Amino acid sequence: MLPQQKYEVAILLGIIAASALAGALINQTLLAVSLALFTYIIFMLRNLFKLQDWLVEQKTDLPDANGYWGEIFNELHLLEKQKSRQKKLLSTTLSRFKNAAEALPDGVVILTPENEIEWINPVASNLLGINYPQDSGQKIGNLIRHPDFQLYLNKNNFSKTITLPAPANSEKTIVMQIIPFGYKQKMIFCRDVSHIAKLEEMRSNFVSNVSHEMRSPLTVVAGYLEMLMENPPEDEAMFKRAIENMFQQTQRMQSLVTDLLALSKMETKPVKHNKIIDVTALLTSLKENAEIAGNKKQQTITLVADKELRIRGNNEELHSLFSNLINNAVRYTPEKGHIDIEWKKMGNEAVFSVKDDGPGIAARHLPHLTERFYRADADRSRETGGTGLGLAIAKYAVERHDGRLQIKSILGKGSTFSCYFPAQRLAT
Ligand code: ADP
Repeated sequence: MLPQQKYEVAILLGIIAASALAGALINQTLLAVSLALFTYIIFMLRNLFKLQDWLVEQKTDLPDANGYWGEIFNELHLLEKQKSRQKKLLSTTLSRFKNAAEALPDGVVILTPENEIEWINPVASNLLGINYPQDSGQKIGNLIRHPDFQLYLNKNNFSKTITLPAPANSEKTIVMQIIPFGYKQKMIFCRDVSHIAKLEEMRSNFVSNVSHEMRSPLTVVAGYLEMLMENPPEDEAMFKRAIENMFQQTQRMQSLVTDLLALSKMETKPVKHNKIIDVTALLTSLKENAEIAGNKKQQTITLVADKELRIRGNNEELHSLFSNLINNAVRYTPEKGHIDIEWKKMGNEAVFSVKDDGPGIAARHLPHLTERFYRADADRSRETGGTGLGLAIAKYAVERHDGRLQIKSILGKGSTFSCYFPAQRLAT
C-alpha cells in the first residue's frame, strides 16, 4: 500500500472513531457513524464526478482538491504533461520525416495493409497522376491500371523493380519498386528514368545506323569482287570502272570511320582547349583546300578575316569544325555558286560564318540537322561523300569551346552556318 493510501485509511478510521465517540456522548453512536460515513461518501463522489467530468471533457483544467484526491489529480496532471510532450515530439519527428520525404527526388507512396493510399509525396503524385489528399484511402490498384503493375502488386515478390510508362504521362518511363515494412504495410518507390530510356534508344539507333552505313559500301565492294572472281572482265575500261567504284566505296567507309573516331574522341577525351589559335591562318588554308575541291564547280569562294582575332582552343577540333562547315558549303552548293567565309568580332563575341547560295534547307529539318546521321537530302549527301556526321561533330566541337552553332537557311536561296565564341575564349 502506498503511503497516501495508508494515510487515507487512517483518516477514514479516525472519522469513524471520532463520530462513534461523539455519538456515544449523546447515545446515538450508530446514527453519528452513519452520518459521518455518508458525508465521507458524498465527498468522495464529488471528487469522482469531478474526475469523470475532466476525463470526458479533457478540455477543462484539472480539478482542484486536497488530500488523497489532490494527490491523484496531481499524478494525472503530470501524466497529461508527459503525454503532451510525447505528442509534440512525435509530431515534430513526423513532420521532419514528411519534409524529408517530400524533398526526395524520387516518388514515395505509403500504403496501408489493404493497399490503400495513406500518404504520397509530390514527385510520386506527379508521376503516378494521383491527387493527394483527395485520393487518400483509395486502393492503389484502382488508380494504376497498367497490367504489369497489377501483376507485380499481386505477386507479393518485390525483390525486383518494374519499368513502365508513367501513368500521368505515357511519354515518360518510370521504374518502380515496392518495399514491404511494418505490419503488412508497403512503400512504393518510383523514379523518372526517361533520360536513361532515351539514351538507350539513342545508343541502339546509333548502332543500327552505323551498321547500315557500313553495310551499303561493303555490299557494293563485295558485289564487284564476286563479279571479278567469277567473270573477270576482258574489257579494260570495265575493269577500271569496277576498281574506281570499289575505291570510292572504301573511301566512304574511311570517312565514316574517321568521323566516328572524331566523335568518340570528343565524347571521351577531355582535351586542353587553351592553345592560342590563329584562326585566320587556319581559315586561309581551309579556303585554299576548298578552292581545289570546288574547282570543278567553278565556285567563287571569299574569305574576310580579322587577323588580330584569335581564340583559345584546340587546333584539331577547330580545324574539324570549320572544315566540316566549309566542305558542306562546297559540296551542297551547285556550279558557279558563291561561298563567303567570315571571321570577325561582333560585340564581345568572335563569330565564324560560312554563307552559301546553294539549295538551302527546309525549315522542318533545321532542328534535327545536328543529330547523328540526320540528312535533309540523303541522296545528295551520299552522292557527295557525306557521312551524316559532319554537323554533329561541328556542334560538339563548338560547344566544347563554350560556343554555339546557329543555322539559318531558306529553301532555294542558301544557308548560313555561324559559330559564336564567347568573350572568355578571345585571346587578347
Ligand atoms: P552530311 O555528311 O550528310 O553532309 P552533315 O551532318 O554535315 O552530314 O549535314 C547534315 C545535313 O544537313 C546534310 O545531309 C544536308 O542535307 C544538310 N546540309 C548541311 N550543310 C548544308 C548546306 N551548306 N547546304 C544545304 N544543306 C546542307
